[in-house]
Amino acid sequence: MKKSQNDTAMLIKQLHALAQNLWWSWNPRAQAIFESLSPLIWESSNHNPVGVLEQFSETELSAHLGDKDFLRRLIPVLEDFETYMKKHPQRRPGEGLVAYFCAEFGIHECLPFYSGGLGVLAGDHLKSASDLGLPLIGIGLFYRQGYFQQHIDPAGNQQESYPTTDPSAIPVELVKASTGKPLLGSVTIGTSMVYFQAWRVSVGRCQLYLLDTDVAENADHFRGLTALAYGGDMNTRIRQEIILGIGGVRFIRALGLRPTVFHMNEGHAAFLTLELLREQLLKGSAKPDAERAVREKCIFTTHTPVPAGHDRFPGHDRFPADLIEFTLRPYVEGMKISVPDLMEYGTMPNTQNKIEFTMTVLGLKLSRAANAVSRKHGEISRLMWKDLLVVKESSVPARARPAGQDGIGYVTNGVHVPSWTGPTCWEFWERHNSHKWKEHFSDERFWQHVSRPEIVTDEELWALRYELRRELIEFVRSRARQQHAFGGVSGEEALFHLLSFDALTIGYARRFAPYKRAPLIFSDLSRAQLLFNDLQRPIQIIYAGKAHPRDGEGKDYLRRIIEATRQHPFFGKVIFLENYDIHVARRLVSGCDVWLNTPRRPLEASGTSGQKTAINGGLHLSILDGWWDEAYNGKNGWAIGGKSDENATPEEVDRRDAGSLYDALANDVIPLFYERDKNGIPRKWIARMRTAMRTIIPRYNTHRMVAEYAEKMYFPAVPPRSKQSEKKVSAR
Ligand SMILES: *Cc1c(COP(=O)(O)O)cnc(C)c1O
Repeated sequence: MKKSQNDTAMLIKQLHALAQNLWWSWNPRAQAIFESLSPLIWESSNHNPVGVLEQFSETELSAHLGDKDFLRRLIPVLEDFETYMKKHPQRRPGEGLVAYFCAEFGIHECLPFYSGGLGVLAGDHLKSASDLGLPLIGIGLFYRQGYFQQHIDPAGNQQESYPTTDPSAIPVELVKASTGKPLLGSVTIGTSMVYFQAWRVSVGRCQLYLLDTDVAENADHFRGLTALAYGGDMNTRIRQEIILGIGGVRFIRALGLRPTVFHMNEGHAAFLTLELLREQLLKGSAKPDAERAVREKCIFTTHTPVPAGHDRFPGHDRFPADLIEFTLRPYVEGMKISVPDLMEYGTMPNTQNKIEFTMTVLGLKLSRAANAVSRKHGEISRLMWKDLLVVKESSVPARARPAGQDGIGYVTNGVHVPSWTGPTCWEFWERHNSHKWKEHFSDERFWQHVSRPEIVTDEELWALRYELRRELIEFVRSRARQQHAFGGVSGEEALFHLLSFDALTIGYARRFAPYKRAPLIFSDLSRAQLLFNDLQRPIQIIYAGKAHPRDGEGKDYLRRIIEATRQHPFFGKVIFLENYDIHVARRLVSGCDVWLNTPRRPLEASGTSGQKTAINGGLHLSILDGWWDEAYNGKNGWAIGGKSDENATPEEVDRRDAGSLYDALANDVIPLFYERDKNGIPRKWIARMRTAMRTIIPRYNTHRMVAEYAEKMYFPAVPPRSKQSEKKVSAR
């Protein structure tokens, strides 16, 4: 009797520990436990286990734990979690701790600390680092009000709201000092001292620390400094970046950690180099030696393909000299660096323009290695920054140079595959052949094997597609009942008449940055109408995405989509889903047959959403830009437009790309989807799905990506691994 009470208390503790670790976010069976406890709160808390448990008394939890059926589901999950946490990481000699800095982290929909692809990439990076056992911590900002919540008003305009997150109701923990009080850090900004605390997010075996200035020690106007992601003006932005970069390094020191690598994921974090420089100078190093020591530790990843930045959110940052001087003068004077010296770090060599400070330049100048995020982006970046690289080359020891021959290499982005595999698809892969699929998804031979018809038949794959498409459409219908974007559709109509379960379903979802050209498919209305009017071969498209609150052009694009959703013949076939987030993304990438991407070349540094579809049997239809430029092989999806842009005007390029998009749909995509055998199976379509699985999943994932970072960027001096250990890493 007594023992069983102890067991129950123990299990309750384990259940809370499970809820606190984001490991559950890529383990659907763990999520199912919490969902089953309270489907209502699970839904309303945006799938947040801590939110669910908060509503349960110990007595109620104990009652559940007396239920054999509940235990049968819970125990294996707890065991998996324990095994995972205890797994001994494989370390290579010379590996130290990596500190990974990013302005946003997208780990799960219940943690609103991201705006788009950059954050999702950072979240997936942490998950794979955890899976691979790489010693890595993340540093970011705690956006209490997130990015924003999007609603479409009856007139078709985007409205933003900023609900405040209660930290006690989400899986984060305040970092405390040994005194039991919050561990505080501080930074001088201008003439003020700004304090911050940090929230710890456990992502499997990795820890993420999110800095938060909402502490009583601060003057009121600093308490809200970290409230919003990419909100406020340039003054807010630079202060946030000072907290992230300089504050981040100080916080790491306060934790007693000494990372050997500082990875800046995009320019927002580049001020971290100044704090590392200060440490060296305070130790008495001369400036050139101090700079060398900083470079030895720093790695920079650029995500921005154009210096001028057509799209400034969340692209790279440039600050006017007087703002730099105002916010950083006391700080740099304390380390005996003059303001002109500081400006030098953020400006291109040999330019007269010393009035703007560019974060990317700072990051590049003070790191030993830099990379772009796809092969094509690598080419663009080397051109963009060539004046800088010439200078840099001479000051960097050869062995520490990045992968490319001339200064900026590339590590193509990927996605954390288990996170983008919905529960239905997860069970599908578990059933078919291998419960180990999630450990082998980086392995090409595994997909060679699994994608064969002897393992998974065409019929089974087709049934899976139907199941996933239905799940998506039912999700859309239930959401549509609550949103205004459907102009006049009643709840009942939405529930029964929006979208068709048999139609070719296209997805388009991402930030509404203008260069991504969301409304491209509507640029020639007569051609678009022809496509959407074909009753024999119906198509439909589901959109989602947020425009930055200050991005007028992005908002116009969004309005054009909303207008289309209300017009014949698009009504019911062109859908806009409000409030794009990681959850909506997961639904869309699993349910859509085709994933559409239409960036204006060469502005898509990588893009990742298309990589999320292959595991679910989706096919990619995209401009040959970013990752697709290197992944497309003619058989694993479709390309829009050619590779050469010559000197065409943007309008010409848009017109040509739109024409190519219509041609691809009319001549290739739609006919293939509707070419059925006597059993109604589209054999050739499914063959393409198999090719996509084989060629995309094993390469465009974050396990491969993080392993590549470790090898080329973090620990390049370590001799190449033996064949055997290489096999182990890729198999994990
Ligand atoms: C994957 C993802 C993105 C990235 O989209 P791309 O345009 O393909 O880079 C953006 N937002 C969310 C929520 C995502 O899940």
